Amino acid sequence: MMDTVLAISYLVASITFIGGLKLLGSPKTARTGNLLAAVGMTVAIIATLVLYHDEQGQHLGNIPLIIAALVIGTGIGWFMAMRVQMTSMPQMVSFFNGMGGACAGFISVLEYKHLLAASAHTSDAMLAGAVHTPNTWHLVAIVAGLLIGSVSFSGSIIAFLKLEDKLGDIRYRGQMIVNNLILLAACAVGVVLVVEYGYVGMEHVAFLAALALIFGVVFVLPIGGADMPVVISLLNSFTGVAAACGGFVYDNMVMLIGGILVGSAGTLLTVVMCKAMNRSLTNVLFSSFGGATASGSSKAATGSVKQLTATDAAVLMAYAQRVVIVPGYGLAVAQAQHVCHNLEHELEARGVSVSYAVHPVAGRMPGHMNVLLAEADVSYDKLVEMEEINPLFKQTDVALVVGANDVVNPAAKTDPSSPIYGMPILDVEDAKNVIVMKRSMKAGYAGIENELFYRPNTSMLFGDAKATMTALVNEVKAL
Ligand code: NDP
Repeated sequence: MMDTVLAISYLVASITFIGGLKLLGSPKTARTGNLLAAVGMTVAIIATLVLYHDEQGQHLGNIPLIIAALVIGTGIGWFMAMRVQMTSMPQMVSFFNGMGGACAGFISVLEYKHLLAASAHTSDAMLAGAVHTPNTWHLVAIVAGLLIGSVSFSGSIIAFLKLEDKLGDIRYRGQMIVNNLILLAACAVGVVLVVEYGYVGMEHVAFLAALALIFGVVFVLPIGGADMPVVISLLNSFTGVAAACGGFVYDNMVMLIGGILVGSAGTLLTVVMCKAMNRSLTNVLFSSFGGATASGSSKAATGSVKQLTATDAAVLMAYAQRVVIVPGYGLAVAQAQHVCHNLEHELEARGVSVSYAVHPVAGRMPGHMNVLLAEADVSYDKLVEMEEINPLFKQTDVALVVGANDVVNPAAKTDPSSPIYGMPILDVEDAKNVIVMKRSMKAGYAGIENELFYRPNTSMLFGDAKATMTALVNEVKAL
């Protein structure tokens, strides 16, 4: 009876994960999706604590310790999530992802130890040929969980430090060979742990963990700049696979399904982001795209820039037929999304058609602009994706670029020496007028100059996006 209730709870939880993932597909339903999956996870945890028992009928032990860990973990997660700035979300995602990888790694270490303890692996027993041999696939899952989970943990922590600007990109000649040798060594130790089971001990497990942790570090060290979102998403899929290995080891359906969902969603997102940057995954992982700095990373933009005042910008937009707002990372930094929404209202009240051009990697996390604009109640049908909006820029009177830089940099199309060459961008330069709102001439995330700012149809409106946007709203109102 208890088994049936447990299985039904797992089924319900699995359905909520799948439903939650589906709802996460649109900003309109994402919040509900997140909540639904969280409820499902709570059901699975409570059902496991109350109903789980092993073949001998033994219930879970260490319940007070488990509850203490749950309370502490929930407290830390809650505290971090409540305090995090929108612009620091990728760091937090990376950190949490790393914790998932670490859990999967610990599970593997413990389970290998349990197997060894259960086996008659004393030398006498071995001599007598009495080495207990567990299911090979269980061993493979344990070893794979340790390898992948450890890589995900240390890689995510390095990604976290990079996003926090506490660590730069480290590259040297022959780096890929060294990295691949470490990976190869880790895989070899993994094979030994499976094939030579009973003849190797926990020191080999520790050796594998160390190699995998080192690989996670060296694998992420050279990757930087605009490639970080792809790496984070890839590490996320690693954690999913490692968790799925845990589910296989414990024969736990909900853990297996949860892990597979995270693994496949992370892989799909990785593929989608690579596509958005027009690069292959191997190119992202094994070349130094995006890590270049301003010096020598792009043909230097020359000439002088034109500036305009908020009054001029307001007049241009108020008398336009069609305005496209292009949000970027600076909009998030300035927290200008609400006042941006006000500008949209003011312009529409004057009969101007306003839409938002959303680049897939604008900001610092996938869907960053969608989340930001949703927070300000911007209608979803006003958000237009890159492929759809690009042909429309030619019929656009004003493209208002708000704190975006890399995603509107024409060097991606015109300069083969540029580190962002090949990345699809928003073709704002096709608009009749381009107004760029930013504080200075400083570069964006990829650290390169933007020749758009020097084009004849571009004017710069310098200042913090929120203050400038507020001035724009007032000017439009006053017209
Ligand atoms: P960028 O980082 O290229 O540029 C942002 C611009 O905003 C800067 O040039 C900055 O100029 C300006 N800015 C910053 N603060 C303010 C402010 N308060 N008011 C006005 N302007 C401000 O942003 P994009 O969105 O164009 O491109 C995103 C980049 O980040 C891409 O290279 C992408 O690959 C990368 N990335 C994306 C991730 C994702 O998942 N979306 C994750 C990690 C990286 P100034 O200092 O002069 O004001």
